[in-house]
Amino acid sequence: MALPRMAFFHDRVLPYAEAKLGLLTHAFNYGTGVFAGIRGYFNQDEGKLFVFRLADHVRRLHESSRLLRMNLALSEEATAAALLDLLRAEGLRQDCYIRALAFYSDEVIGVRLHGLTPVLAAVAVPFGLYIDKAEGAHCTVSSWRRPDDNVIPPRGKITGSYINSALAKSDAELSGFDEAILLNRDGHVSEGSGENIFLIRRGIAVTPSLDQSVLEGITRRSLITLLRDELGLTVEERPVERGEIFLADEIFLTGTAAQITAVTRIDHRPVGTGQMGSVTTRLRSLFFDVVRGRSPKYRSWCTLVA
Ligand code: PMP
Repeated sequence: MALPRMAFFHDRVLPYAEAKLGLLTHAFNYGTGVFAGIRGYFNQDEGKLFVFRLADHVRRLHESSRLLRMNLALSEEATAAALLDLLRAEGLRQDCYIRALAFYSDEVIGVRLHGLTPVLAAVAVPFGLYIDKAEGAHCTVSSWRRPDDNVIPPRGKITGSYINSALAKSDAELSGFDEAILLNRDGHVSEGSGENIFLIRRGIAVTPSLDQSVLEGITRRSLITLLRDELGLTVEERPVERGEIFLADEIFLTGTAAQITAVTRIDHRPVGTGQMGSVTTRLRSLFFDVVRGRSPKYRSWCTLVA
């Protein structure tokens, strides 16, 4: 991957090479950071770059920071403005991914969350597919469990907790699968290593409720709206049992990076017909119009990078 040209670091945009950290940086040693992954979509017809649900991602970043007792210097509005400044400086005219981080920058030894200084940083890079087989992924149910809310709150996007995702993802990929599906402490379906999960069965959409050790996904929330209001489906948010994934007609993973990834096999069993289903197909086409600012009704979800 080519490195970005620019970065937002502390309080300004500067060349990426100048954004340097010391070895003792607290977040590097103890995982005491929170982050956001946001997509920018280039609309070819209008020649414009749109950021999908910028305010929601910034709000979740700030909420995640509160879980780590951070007191960020920038307001949510100022954070969003900083990310737009960065995008203008980077000058991307293609689909991209914005990584924003708030982390403890102190160069000290000692595990804790108090008496430390949080710093905000961000970069933007060109970005395509995260899961190559977005129209037919083969997933496995991981032997790793999703951390419980009393272990590390999964609602927050906390850098240290991504070790759990990395353990599951590597085991899955090195065994020939495209992605892992993790169960929670109770053995219920939770989410992918970096995605929420939806099942379609008998025309009803089901997704694990927010008490099932899942991240409060912004794509998840957007798709619940599109499934209900545009495709007319009932959406149930509730605990999902492992057996249900083998009886579903369709399954898809959702996230900023993975967008809508159709899961067509789980542990060598076909999901439904073993091909991407009709709900997933319609939802993907609607979603890609929405994120590029092509749907007037949902244009407010897209922030123009002027
Ligand atoms: N779950 C996890 C564990 C994730 O890392 C992500 C990606 N941020 C998601 C779900 C999806 O969240 P979002 O739609 O907000 O990107």
